[in-house]
Amino acid sequence: MMFKYVNEDQIDIELKCTICDEPFEAPMNCATCGNTYCKSCILKWLEKQASCPSCRQTGAAFQPVISRVVRNQLNRLLVQCALCKYTGIQRSNFNDHISGTCPKYIIKCSNNCGWKGVRESHQQHLITCRQNPFPNSLSKFSNIVFILILSTLLYWIFRRGDK
Ligand SMILES: [Zn+2]
Ligand SMILES: [Zn+2]
Ligand SMILES: [Zn+2]
Ligand SMILES: [Zn+2]
Repeated sequence: MMFKYVNEDQIDIELKCTICDEPFEAPMNCATCGNTYCKSCILKWLEKQASCPSCRQTGAAFQPVISRVVRNQLNRLLVQCALCKYTGIQRSNFNDHISGTCPKYIIKCSNNCGWKGVRESHQQHLITCRQNPFPNSLSKFSNIVFILILSTLLYWIFRRGDK
């Protein structure tokens, strides 16, 4: 896991899974007793024994929890990024933090030059990156413009000579 919960001991026990003792991830509940578990926890449990950990009903059916209240409470739980130590990120935004802003997340250079490093040093790297796309695309663009002008000119000269 790439994050830690902020004040984990103060999180409502109703939001915690009794199998892993952490706030639910993709909560599923038992159709018989209503007890809730993380999807991955209950799937692992059911591989070993086909009964609900709480009511022991064999062949108990589990369904995703659709309650918006529960989902919102889970989404709003605050977490701390294990990489950059930034705290106060809502759990539902954590993936965006990692894929978009976390300064300590290791990324590949956007120019596919083979460089890999933490996001915060990428700007510095781009200054020296050999495959900087700007001069490249600029020269491609001016090549096209040049060919267009040349062919128009040739066409024009050819037409003039025709008369
Ligand atoms: Zn769990
Ligand atoms: Zn049950
Ligand atoms: Zn981070
Ligand atoms: Zn690069």
